[in-house]
Amino acid sequence: MGGTFDPIHYGHLVAAEEALVQFNLDKVLFMPTGTPARKTDQRVTPAEHRYLMTVIATASNPDFEVSRLEIDRPGVTYTVETMTELRTRYGGSADLFFITGADAVLEILTWKDSARLADLCTLIAATRPGYDLSPFMERPVPSGLRVETMEVPALAISSTDIRARVASRRPVRYLLPEAVAAYVSKNRLYRGDG
Ligand code: NAP
Repeated sequence: MGGTFDPIHYGHLVAAEEALVQFNLDKVLFMPTGTPARKTDQRVTPAEHRYLMTVIATASNPDFEVSRLEIDRPGVTYTVETMTELRTRYGGSADLFFITGADAVLEILTWKDSARLADLCTLIAATRPGYDLSPFMERPVPSGLRVETMEVPALAISSTDIRARVASRRPVRYLLPEAVAAYVSKNRLYRGDG
């Protein structure tokens, strides 16, 4: 499961659990991005914070793991490179899925390397109910590339909203795990004063 996770919240965790069950997965490997491809001009929280928050959020679930693969790889993060590495690690017979938000999946379909993904994995686009899925029908998908969609009501929660709430001192309780909220507070993330 790829994401910037800035910060990770219950929407991500519910989506991961939903994918685990719906697609009969052995485990979900959370993959915080190093330098997100479409955010090179935006301020993103240092990778080590995003990685640690992801570890904290997933620690109690034996089916969830967190990878440092992308945050330790120098340069801009490209999913096709990550999936190539995972394919080598897990072998040709493993069924690999790349789970992420639907907007990011639509973006992925526009890359020149997206055709290579067809040999590497199935994409799972997680959305909140009511999200307009028509672009998935209209966009030409590289031949052989499988794209699944999955509706997750908890994805009404968003990292952008959580960051804005922290910045304006509004509550974030019940939107993300308490231990992650404590980490955000202790490290003064998103307050706009650091
Ligand atoms: P984003 O633009 O921050 O997110 C787009 C939407 O998807 C937001 O609504 C976001 O909500 C949601 N989202 C993100 N990750 C999610 C997840 N794991 N589960 C459910 N919803 C999720 O997207 P991003 O974080 O930069 O990128 C997502 C993934 O796609 C990353 O792994 C990234 O490396 C990959 N990606 C790769 C390329 C490339 O290789 N060229 C380009 C774009 C994206 P929240 O803000 O609440 O998370």
